[in-house]
Amino acid sequence: MSGPLPRQLLPDSATVGDDGRLRIGGCDVLELAERHGTPLFVYDEAHLRARCREAVTAFGDGVAYAAKAFLCLAMARLAHEEGMHLDVATGGELHVALAAGVPGDRLVLHGSNKSLEELRDARSAGVGRIVVDSFDELDRLATLHADDGLRPKILVRATPGVEAHTHDFIRTGQVDSKFGFGVAVGDAARAVARAQDSPAVELVGVHMHIGSQVFVADFFHEAVEVIAPWVREVGLPELSIGGGLGVAYVEGEEAPSITEWGTAIVSGCRDAGITARVAAEPGRSIVAQAAVTLYTVGTIKDVPDVRTYVSVDGGMSDNPRPVLYGSGYEAFLPRATGAARPKRVTIVGKHCESGDVLVRDAQVPDDLAVGDVLATPVTGAYGHSMGSNYNKVLRPAVVFVGDGQAREVVRRETYDDLLRHDVPL
Ligand code: PLP
Repeated sequence: MSGPLPRQLLPDSATVGDDGRLRIGGCDVLELAERHGTPLFVYDEAHLRARCREAVTAFGDGVAYAAKAFLCLAMARLAHEEGMHLDVATGGELHVALAAGVPGDRLVLHGSNKSLEELRDARSAGVGRIVVDSFDELDRLATLHADDGLRPKILVRATPGVEAHTHDFIRTGQVDSKFGFGVAVGDAARAVARAQDSPAVELVGVHMHIGSQVFVADFFHEAVEVIAPWVREVGLPELSIGGGLGVAYVEGEEAPSITEWGTAIVSGCRDAGITARVAAEPGRSIVAQAAVTLYTVGTIKDVPDVRTYVSVDGGMSDNPRPVLYGSGYEAFLPRATGAARPKRVTIVGKHCESGDVLVRDAQVPDDLAVGDVLATPVTGAYGHSMGSNYNKVLRPAVVFVGDGQAREVVRRETYDDLLRHDVPL
């Protein structure tokens, strides 16, 4: 694993010049770092648009981009322009999507604990679907209906007790999840019956999230077979199977394309006698490989016979996934993109936390030095969106690149931003 970075981990429009320098969307990545500073998220706009279009082709109208993976005004607008609906999971995500000009009827509201205010806002914005997660939520919808008479279209979120996993296919007898209504315990059937009887909602379908970071299309096919009897029995016109398509983060990983995933799901549903319109909510597979994060190397500390620490100017505040899930990433130098990477180092952030590791065992070129711009690929999903201000580190800027132009779509925070909500004594 000491060869150059595999091409498949880079965004679609990435090219490498004769000088070894990486360009994305026709922009020299090192120039972007110089102009916009680091850490910097660089998204390939054509890549994002292509994945959205692929999802719409694979599933048809109704497929929603799961905004939790990465959301800002520009991303919401882009997904809408490309024909996707947007899955928003909180009032905050709803607010951003509406501010981006996405019409309410193109939105799907999720959330396992939606407040009265969130439900009220979503209903008055005319959201296309509310995915109902609990009996308490049905109560809240009834309370709101008594006030204003609005009757939103809803899906009931069922917890099927089956999940397609990365290397496994799991059937759980009992349902241990904070999400949704358990099918095995009869809650899902009770929720469907209650919603059907309720004047406060119009029940149009069921929702089941049947995977996360899944790498093999067949697993989805199998998961569909397991949920089919219940979906057929309920007999509603819509079924959403949630998100969950995996992406390759590191060398050696391979994932199905959105097209392969869509085919496995839709044909699996038809084979299993499900006639409902099939929708999905991809997040990661739309945005993850569209982006790289650029950092500047600040210090290098060699602990002889143990490891070499390479510290960069970001860390767990722009990518908490390694700390949260032990997720793996690759690293490379955009000044020498095709170079061999024989040296093993540990890339760490600048936070006051020993666990602030970005890449535990990174392979890098031998001549990596202080001042280098270092990049981690496949950082477009759940990095910026799960980021924080820990240690009052400023959130990075985000640029969309294409046709040789870079547009800053999220500006870098300033120190003044850190004081915006504080009230002095
Ligand atoms: N839909 C639901 C209900 C989810 O819980 C998630 C992920 O948590 C998604 C969609 C998006 O999943 P992914 O980003 O893995 O495609």
